[in-house]
Amino acid sequence: MSQIQVDLNDFHWMLEMIQNIDVGLVVLDKQYRIQTWNTFMEAHSNLRPDQTQGKNIFELFPMLPETWLRNKVDSVFMLNNRSFTTWEQRPQVFKFRNYRPITGMVEYMYQNMTIIPLKSLTGEVTHVSLIIYDVTDVAVNKLQLERANKQLSEISRTDGLTQLNNRRYWEERAEQEYNRNIRTKHPCSMVMFDIDHFKRINDNYGHLAGDDVIRQTAATLKSTMRNTDISGRYGGEEFVVILVDTAPENAFVFCERLRKNIESLNIKWESETIKYTISLGVCELYDCFPNYQSWLEQADQALYQSKETGRNKTTIMQYDNIKIVD
Ligand code: GH3
Ligand code: MG
Ligand code: MG
Repeated sequence: MSQIQVDLNDFHWMLEMIQNIDVGLVVLDKQYRIQTWNTFMEAHSNLRPDQTQGKNIFELFPMLPETWLRNKVDSVFMLNNRSFTTWEQRPQVFKFRNYRPITGMVEYMYQNMTIIPLKSLTGEVTHVSLIIYDVTDVAVNKLQLERANKQLSEISRTDGLTQLNNRRYWEERAEQEYNRNIRTKHPCSMVMFDIDHFKRINDNYGHLAGDDVIRQTAATLKSTMRNTDISGRYGGEEFVVILVDTAPENAFVFCERLRKNIESLNIKWESETIKYTISLGVCELYDCFPNYQSWLEQADQALYQSKETGRNKTTIMQYDNIKIVD
């Protein structure tokens, strides 16, 4: 066998491999005309090589991110350096549908891409090769993991019975709000409230009824407060809310609305109707509080006064009443 025949065989095998390799291969000239279009590209675009040969890639694929791709390819031509892009920067270059069975729930193929400069025999970069990798499996796994982590961190911040912030997370938020507002001197009010004679509800109707009352209290709180307010379940039937940008007069209006909303609830339990009330305490954020705990402590004191003086009412802690114990 002559030397030429051997070389031709090599060349033939090479082409065969390039055609059948499981990545997309596209060769472009400087005018963005397609010179090579392998089987992967054919299978996913439904365009045969003879339909793409010599065609401008942007005319053939108007969906391509033209400015972005031109920037990348031009710099490969100019710098004679390869360039790599990931699905995290741009999920797909070519909008190919995804048909993989396991990751079938995503509509389009996620892609990484390498752009390689191709030199002619004279050493000049005359073409580039785009290599398109199908990374749908990796991307979907990573996205699912991120989603699961997000759900987990939500669960770890949420109280299971009421879906309000749990005490630990609320305390974190309270500390942040304290730090933010003590600096900016924005008015900001802390509300603490507790269900009146809750033990009787448990005793008369059972623990499950008690749980339902707690749930309905949280739902009423959510529908009464603003989205920006920071609420939490502090203890069994004790709740806390930080009313941001709210002076105590307005906090009082909020508390009374919440108190009346709760008072007018009729909770159906088996054949009976449960009625109940709450007591509330409010304290504005004053400069003299060394930390959020002392702010909360004063709201708790105000709540205690509401309980002492008859329940089903709101008390505002006045500045001249505040005693800070370190
Ligand atoms: P007061 O008006 O003084 O607040 O009277 P109270 O009966 O509500 O007294 P207190 O606040 O001390 O009672 C809290 C009771 O709440 C004690 C506990 O058995 C009950 N409790 C705490 N957590 C839960 C819970 O998650 N579910 C139910 N059903 N009961 C709870
Ligand atoms: Mg109570
Ligand atoms: Mg209590």
